[in-house]
Parts: sequence; structure tokens; C-alpha cells
Amino acid sequence: MSDLHIYNSLSRQKEKFEAINPPYVGLYCCGPTVYSDVHLGNTRTFISFDLVYRYLKHLGYNVRYVRNITDAGHLTNDQGEGKNRMEDQAKLEKLEPMEIVQKYTVGFHEVCRLFNLLPPTIEPTATGHIVEQIEMTQKLIDNGVAYESNGSVYFDVKAYNDKGNNYGILSGRNIDELIAGYRDLDGQEEKRNSVDFALWKKASPEHIMQWSSPWSSGFPGWHLECSVMSTKYLGKQFDIHAGGMDLKFPHHECEIAQNVGACGNTPVRYWMHTNMLNFNGQKMSKSLGNSILPMEFVTGNHPLLDKPYSAMTVRFLFMQSHYSSELDITIKGLQDAEKGLRKLMNAAKYLSEIKFDSITVEEKQDKIISDLCAECKVVMDDDFNAPKLIAVLHELATLINIYYNDGKKINNISDSTFNLLQTTYNAYLFDVLGLQDEVATGNNDALDKVMQLVIDIRKQSRENKDWTTSDKIRDALKEANINIKDGKDGTTYEIG
Ligand SMILES: [Zn+2]
Repeated sequence: MSDLHIYNSLSRQKEKFEAINPPYVGLYCCGPTVYSDVHLGNTRTFISFDLVYRYLKHLGYNVRYVRNITDAGHLTNDQGEGKNRMEDQAKLEKLEPMEIVQKYTVGFHEVCRLFNLLPPTIEPTATGHIVEQIEMTQKLIDNGVAYESNGSVYFDVKAYNDKGNNYGILSGRNIDELIAGYRDLDGQEEKRNSVDFALWKKASPEHIMQWSSPWSSGFPGWHLECSVMSTKYLGKQFDIHAGGMDLKFPHHECEIAQNVGACGNTPVRYWMHTNMLNFNGQKMSKSLGNSILPMEFVTGNHPLLDKPYSAMTVRFLFMQSHYSSELDITIKGLQDAEKGLRKLMNAAKYLSEIKFDSITVEEKQDKIISDLCAECKVVMDDDFNAPKLIAVLHELATLINIYYNDGKKINNISDSTFNLLQTTYNAYLFDVLGLQDEVATGNNDALDKVMQLVIDIRKQSRENKDWTTSDKIRDALKEANINIKDGKDGTTYEIG
């Protein structure tokens, strides 16, 4: 079906993608924890896997995309001990924990819509799968890789490895080093080994979010929900598991151990991880004051931003780096992304206006265009290389601009190549990269009408030699970043 190759974090190499049950593909992505606004690093992860989802669909796969919502208040530290974040935030905001969940789930969905993420096919919640989490915990106890201790249940990492498994297979970590490296944390005295992680935690009476189980009234460990929800909806073995690089250990390592321990087989064929975000070369963090929320780009309401940047500009900026590379956001990068996006969008508009009028097919030109169209698939098949795709689209946009400025006609390629150019350019720009023309999606009709009026008034004032009015119009449009072009077929406008 395709020549797609994916870098598999598990094998640490690029592999040819073979779906388990083509044309079906199962894709799971760890979703947000909804106790605060989704931060930009997570947004990059979700945008990256939106690209993966879109491209798999473009290739003709029937994708079931599962992205969960963590609403069961996972715990402060990696090993599943500490405080319940959802409840802490609820106390801080004087709300019920489920009000916190609702508030930030709605906020997350708003960000998703704004950044044009396709909704996943299933968006399961941890609190909706407590029964299944209890069942998997019981199965792990029955299989001898988990134990109950004082009402809590822990995964027994040593027992798991003694059965010939390898805890550390994904992250490359060594269990002895892990044991030696652990600090003394809350709940350690209940565990056989410091590296063991919680499957079920007994709750103290003041815990609001708790459920009954055979071991205690409590709540599930964070890692468990993804094992449960991925296998419930995608089967015991599925194609792609995605997430941020920071989740590789311990979260994904623990997921593998739970799945192998409960189901007897490795759950995932291809593990994919997105890399981190920096701002001006520094890691984004609240303490450094350089942590910008997705919505703050759009409002421009952050001291580090010189002006608002649209969601599509940010999405385009993200697409200009490969998902597995670190991405450094700078103001210059944002400004360039804004210009680059505008060039590609303008070319799409021109392409729809260009008339096909083939007088003589020039084979050389015909080949240049059909080769560039084929190149779009080649670069995307190479581990979803969006930055290279954007470079190819820029080359196509340059050619489209030449045709447009040369009488809005294409007259030297075959009609099949012209059709290929139109379908390829639009499919990759809009469907695969998921970019939108914000002018078009905003209020294009209204803007077109207003601009036509402005252009008419300008024309009239020039005919009347009313230079004050025509200069005023020119300056105001320049201020609004709108360029007017006088051509032989009349006056047009473009943004940027
Ligand atoms: Zn997860």
C-alpha cells in the first residue's frame, strides 16, 4: 500500500511500515492531563500526530485514532506516589475535581479546533475505564507480576524480568541502575523494590476521587489507563503508539511491562516520540517565564511576543521542523513562518484562478512539475518529513506564481500534469499538513466585498486626481499588511 518508513523508538531505527491488518491502522496517542491549560510542548506532540493521522488517511488507510483524556488525577511523581494533581487544582480553584476536568477538557478542545487538529476517532477517559483498570490489575496479580501491599497494588519489576522480560526495553535503562538511583519516596516502604510502580493506590479518606476495588477504596496508577484503553480499542497488538519524548520513561516503559504482563505479548509495532520545544534556545518552563500558552500566541498577550501570531502560523512553524528534532521558537522564526505560510496560501488561491490553456507542451517543464508532485509523497514516506514537504511546496508555489503573473495561464504542460499539480498541491497543503487559509476560513466573502469597495473608491479617486484619498487608502492597506496589485486584468489584493 505504501513505501512509508517510520523511525521506531523501540528498535532505534527507521523501518518499513507494515500494518498488522491493512487497510486498518491502530494509532494511540497519550492525551492531556486535564488539570491545567495544555502547554505548547504538548500541543506540538498533538499537532505532530495529527500530521501522522492525516498522512495515513491520505495513503488510504482506515485509521482508528485513539487519544485519551487523563482525568483520574494522576500523581505528582513518576512512580505514582505523591499528590493528586486534579484534587490539588480543585482545592486551589475551589471547584469539584470533575469541574476542573470539564473546564480544561473544553479548553483543550478549543486549542485543538484552533490549531485544526482532526478529532480522534475515540477519545476515552481514564475515569470511564476504572472497571477495566481493576481487571487488568487483577490479571497482573494472577500472572505473578504484581502484588498487593497495604491496600495498594504494585507492579513487580524484578518478577517480570525473572520471567525473561526486559523492563527497560524501550528506554534502554538498566534495572539495577534504576534501583540504585531512586530517592526515598512516599510509599517506598510498601514496595518490594524501589523501581516497582503503582497499579492501584489506596486512598486516604479525604481523597475525593476514589473507587472501590478488591484491595481498597482508591484510584488507579497513571500508567495503567493507557495500557487498558489502547488494548480495549485497538487490540492486544496494534500498529503505532505515539507520545512526547518525556513519556518514554517511565510511562511508556511501564505500559509495555503491563501489557506484556497481562496479555503475554508486546503491544505495539512502532513507537513514535516527538522531541522537545525551546524558546530562544532555552527550555520552556514556568520558572524561566518563557512558557507561552497556545492561546497566548493568538492573542499576543505575552511579554516575549512582539505581536499576535495566528494558530496556523504556529502550526506551520512546527511543521517546518521534523517531529523528532528539537524545535527552537524565535520571533524571527515566527515572522518567517508567517511569510512562508502566506506564500503557500497565495499560491493555492492563484492556482484556483489560473486557466489551463495548453498551447505547446514543453516536456522539460512538464517533467519538472510532475517530479515535484511525486516528491511530495517521497519525502512524507520518509518518516513524515514535513519540513522537506514544505520545501517542495515552496518550489511549486514559485512556479505557480510565475504562471499567475504571466497572464494567469498555464500553457506549456499537459492537462494531466495540470490536474496532478492542482490535486497534489491542495491535498498536501490542506489535507496532509492540515493548514488553513485563515483569511479564507475567517470571513473571506465579507473581506472580498469590502476590498472590492476599497479598490473601486481608490480607482475613482485616482480618476478624479484626488490623491489625498488614494494615498490614504494605500497607507491604510499597507498598515493592515494588504498589498494591492494593478495588473492588466484589473486590480487584485493579497495579504502579506
Ligand atoms: Zn499514556
